[in-house]
Formats: sequence, structure tokens, C-alpha cells
Amino acid sequence: MHCQQIIEFGQPLEARDYPTPEPQGTEVLLKVSACGVCHSDLHIWEGFFDLGGGQKLDLLSRMTLPFTLGHEVVGEVVAFGPDVEGVEIGDKRIVFPWIGCRECAVCKAGDELLCMSPQTVGTRYNGGYADEVIAPHPKYLIPYDGVPTELACTYACSGLTAYSALKKLSHLKETDHLLIIGAGGVGLSAVHFAASVVKAKIIVADIDPTKRSIARQSGAHETIDNSDPNALAKLHEITGGGAMGAIDFVGAPATAEFGINGLCKGGHLVCVGLYGDSIPLSTAMMPLMMRTLQGSYVGSLQEMHELMALVMDGKIAPIPYEVRPLDEAHKALMDLKAGKVEGRVVLSPRA
Ligand SMILES: [Zn+2]
Ligand SMILES: [Zn+2]
Repeated sequence: MHCQQIIEFGQPLEARDYPTPEPQGTEVLLKVSACGVCHSDLHIWEGFFDLGGGQKLDLLSRMTLPFTLGHEVVGEVVAFGPDVEGVEIGDKRIVFPWIGCRECAVCKAGDELLCMSPQTVGTRYNGGYADEVIAPHPKYLIPYDGVPTELACTYACSGLTAYSALKKLSHLKETDHLLIIGAGGVGLSAVHFAASVVKAKIIVADIDPTKRSIARQSGAHETIDNSDPNALAKLHEITGGGAMGAIDFVGAPATAEFGINGLCKGGHLVCVGLYGDSIPLSTAMMPLMMRTLQGSYVGSLQEMHELMALVMDGKIAPIPYEVRPLDEAHKALMDLKAGKVEGRVVLSPRA
């Protein structure tokens, strides 16, 4: 098995070779065809999440190094353990990575995403910056018939995160406004298929004129430069008093504040981005404005099946992506860090 690994947090990824893993029990071994490079890979590579106020969520205690990143994996089944049913050698599948411990009460109730001991592929299990990957059970393998392989992998995180966030606002009406903040990889996916999930008019806020222009071509009704000091006034003017729904795909203090202050009475902000740090929150304005703040992290196995049904039905416009060789994984991460990536970089062991 050839992989690109974190040897030390914050240091360049390094190529390593290991013997091919032998799948045990319910495990399935896949030959990796493609793996998306996600912004959260950057946070994991850095080794911490910024919690604000000088606090950090340190990943050193939760992970063992060397470690292989990559949670947007598509591959072909090449071997499986003796307890596997329902897959065949040669099946091409997306690996659903957001796996729980499969033993606690929430996992047994089918809410693996709420498990307090997640076993995610690419954050706990070694992931897809490799030419081989293990899926712990065949129920996490999702068909993607008719979808290009390099695009299919992006649905496991980017697409699913966008879908789950949009679904939390599926109560919005045609006359409402949905503010999408941040038209990077995940935000842009949301813009692309918002109309398949939410009826509201879409307004996209981004500080980058190129991303605003891509957002307009992708179906946004209006765009706003949220670095403009008059951005909030402009938003209130467009929406006639504020948006009923907002999704913050950045998660920086400035974007979260823009999201909250951009809501009308009864508005609902879904927080998705993991940029980090913190904001002061007016405890009086929450009840006075009857606002809802909700965190959304990736999506459930059920939502993954719903999303792929929409994708295979042609209801989800594809996001732009660029295929690069697996061994350029570190450069891909650094380009993402520098904001030089539009859409998704997808690593291929055979590119
Ligand atoms: Zn991701
Ligand atoms: Zn669990």
C-alpha cells in the first residue's frame, strides 16, 4: 500500500509504503480510484482546531501518527473479510466515512453521526491519500452508477455537508431568502444544488470577486461582498429586513456575525465552517429576535443515500474539480491553505 502520510503535525506529508492490509471480519478492502482534498484535512494536518480565546482542540491525544488523511474516497472492491455480505469483487463504491463506534446506544439507534467515539475513515481509520483503503463494513459502501469517479468522491464530504446543511433549512418558503456565506468547495456545492433542496431565493456572500461570479453562474440570485462595510445594509435592503435562513460555510468570527446579524426575526443560522475562533453573542437578542443557531457536521448515512439518489437522478449539478497525482497531496493541501483552489482537488493514485 502506497500512501501520503502525516509523519508530524504541520510538517510536509511523506510517501510511505506498507504491505497490503488484509480485511478481517466485516472489513472490505478497496483499491482507491480517487480521493478529494478537503479543508478539514488542513486542520487535521495542522493538528488542532482553534476554539477561540487562546483555546485549542488538540488532535495529538486523539490520533496516532503516522496517519493517512482522506475522507472523500472512491474505490473498487478487491478483497473482503469472511463476514462480508452483499458486495462483489470489482464493485465500484464511495466509502461513507462518518462512522461511529457501532456499539453505543446512539449508534445502535442508527445515529452514528452523534456517536461520542467516532471511527471516521480519514480522521481515525487511515484514509484515501493512498492506493488502498479499508472500509469497516459493506453498509458504508455507496453505489454511484453513471457518475464520474473523480466527481463521485466529493459527495462523501463536500456534497454531503452541503446537502445536510441545506436540508436543515428545507422549511424555507419561495418568498424567503437563504444567505450562503463562503463560495469555496462546500459552499459552492450548496449553491449548485440549493434549488433541489430549498425553495428560497439564494444570496451568496464571499469576499472574492471570482467566487462571487462563479456563484452567480451557478444559480445565485444575488451576490454580496461581505468585506464591504455596507454589506449588512445591502443584505437587509435585498431581503427586505433580513434572511430567514443562512448557512456559514466559513466559520470565522466575521462570517458568523454577518450570518447572525443578517437574519430576520425567526431566522435560522446553520454553522458549518471550521475556520475557528469565537464570537460574542447577545443573549438578549437571541430571544428578542427568536433566532436559531444550529451546528451541522457532514451528514448521516441516510442523507448520503438521499443525496446520491438526487445525484444519480441528475438533480445535482456537478462541482468543478481538478485531478492531481496522489504524490502531489502536500502541494494540494498547501494550495488549499493559500486559497488557490476553486472547486475541489481530487487525488488519483494513477494520475
Ligand atoms: Zn471534509
Ligand atoms: Zn457509537
